[in-house]
Amino acid sequence: MSAGTLPPFDPDDPLGIDDLLEPEDLAVRSTVRKWAADRVLPHIADWYERGELPGIRELTRELGSLGALGMSLSGYGCTGAGAVQYGLACLELEAADSGIRSLVSVQGSLAMYAIHRFGSEEQKQRWLPRMAAGEVIGCFGLTEPDHGSDPAGMRTYAKRDGTDWVLTGRKMWITNGSVAGVAVVWARTDEGIRGFVVPTDTPGFSAPEIKHKWSLRASVTSELILDEVRLPADAVLPEATGLRGPLSCLSHARYGIIWGALGAARSSFASALEYARSREQFGRPIGGFQLTQAKLADMAVELHKGVLLAHHLGRRMDAGRLRPEQVSFGKLNNVREAIEICRTARTILGANGISLEYPVMRHATNLESVLTYEGTVEMHQLVLGKALTGLDAFR
Ligand SMILES: Cc1cc2nc3c(=O)[nH]c(=O)nc-3n(C[C@H](O)[C@H](O)[C@H](O)COP(=O)(O)OP(=O)(O)OC[C@H]3O[C@@H](n4cnc5c(N)ncnc54)[C@H](O)[C@@H]3O)c2cc1C
Repeated sequence: MSAGTLPPFDPDDPLGIDDLLEPEDLAVRSTVRKWAADRVLPHIADWYERGELPGIRELTRELGSLGALGMSLSGYGCTGAGAVQYGLACLELEAADSGIRSLVSVQGSLAMYAIHRFGSEEQKQRWLPRMAAGEVIGCFGLTEPDHGSDPAGMRTYAKRDGTDWVLTGRKMWITNGSVAGVAVVWARTDEGIRGFVVPTDTPGFSAPEIKHKWSLRASVTSELILDEVRLPADAVLPEATGLRGPLSCLSHARYGIIWGALGAARSSFASALEYARSREQFGRPIGGFQLTQAKLADMAVELHKGVLLAHHLGRRMDAGRLRPEQVSFGKLNNVREAIEICRTARTILGANGISLEYPVMRHATNLESVLTYEGTVEMHQLVLGKALTGLDAFR
C-alpha cells in the first residue's frame, strides 16, 4: 500500500482506534462530549476554585436525560448500553472533570449497581427508575475513618431489634453523601457484612460535607453519620452477604475509571500540544524542541495504549469474561499513566501550567484522588502480585 492510499495521520487518534467503534458508539461519544462542552467546561474552573458543584441536582437530571446514569444496567429506566459505550461516556465526562465522572460512577456503578444486582424487586422498583432519571442521587458508603483499603475491619454495625435493623457507625470520604436521597451502606452484622438501602431522611442519618480538599474540588464528598438509624427488615439487600457484595460493585465502577482517567489525560495532552505549537522561546515554538517532542510522543503512546487496553477490557466485560484481576490491571495502568501525562503536560505549559486557566493542574490534582479511591495503586499491585505468584501479600 502506498502512502497516498493510507488514511491521513490523525493526532487525536494516532492508532486509528476509532475504527473499532460502531456508529452507535460514536453517537454516544459525541452526545456526551457536547453536553460536557455546553454544561461543564464553561464553568468548571470557577466551580473548582470555589470548591463546589453548584446545580448538582439539575446536572444530575440532565445526565439522567442523556441516559448516562446506570448506563450499562438494563430495565428500570436504565439504558442497557454496552461496556464500550459506558466507557466512552466516562472518558468524555472526565475530560471535562473527574468530579462529574465521579458523580456518574457513584450513582450508576456503585449505588444503582448494588440495588440492581443485589436488591429485591421492591427495592429495584422503588429506587432505580428515579435514580436513572437523576431525580434521586445515590451514594455508596463502604470506607470508614479507620478502615479504607481493608474494609473487612469495618466497625459500622447493624443489629437486629425485633424485625427492624438499627445501624450505628461512621463512613468517610463518601462521594455524593450530602446530596444523596438514598445511601447504600455496608455494615457488619451477626451474619457477616450486609448492605442496607438507607433513605437519607431516616432519623439518625446525617452527612456533613468534607471541605478543604485539594483534589476533586468540584465533587461533593461527605462523612456519613449513622446514629441508631432504624430501618425495616426489607432495607437489607437480600442477595449480598460478605465483602463479595461491595467488591463486585467496586469492580464495575473501576471499569469506568479505566476509561475515565484517559479523559483527563486526553484533555491535558490536547492542552499541552496546542501550547507547544504556539508558545515560542529562543525564537521558535517549544514544540520544535526535541525534549518537548519526546514528552509529547511518550504521552501519546501511553494515552492511546490505555485506550486500546480499555477497549479490550470492555469487550471482555460484554462477553462476561472480565476478571477482577484484569480490572485491577486496567485501573493500575491507566490511572497511573494518566496522572503522569497530566504532570508532564503541566511541565510543557511552564508557569501557565499551574493556572486554572488551563485544565492540566486541575486534572492532575483530581487524579490524585482517582489514584487512591476504588482501590489504591498498591492494592491493585497486590491483587496482580497475588494472581501472578499465588502468594497473598496483603497482610
Ligand atoms: C475524593 C474521594 C472520594 C471517595 N469516595 C468514596 C465513596 O464514594 N465511597 C467509599 O466507600 N469510599 C470513597 N473514598 C474512599 C477511598 O475508597 C479510600 O480512600 C481508599 O480505599 C483508601 O483508603 P484510605 O484512604 O483509608 O487509605 P489506607 O487504606 O489507610 O491506605 C494508606 C496507604 O497505605 C497503603 N496500604 C494499605 N494497606 C497496605 C498493604 N497491605 N500493603 C501495602 N500498602 C498498603 C495504601 O495503598 C495507601 O497508600 C473516596 C476517597 C476520596 C479521596
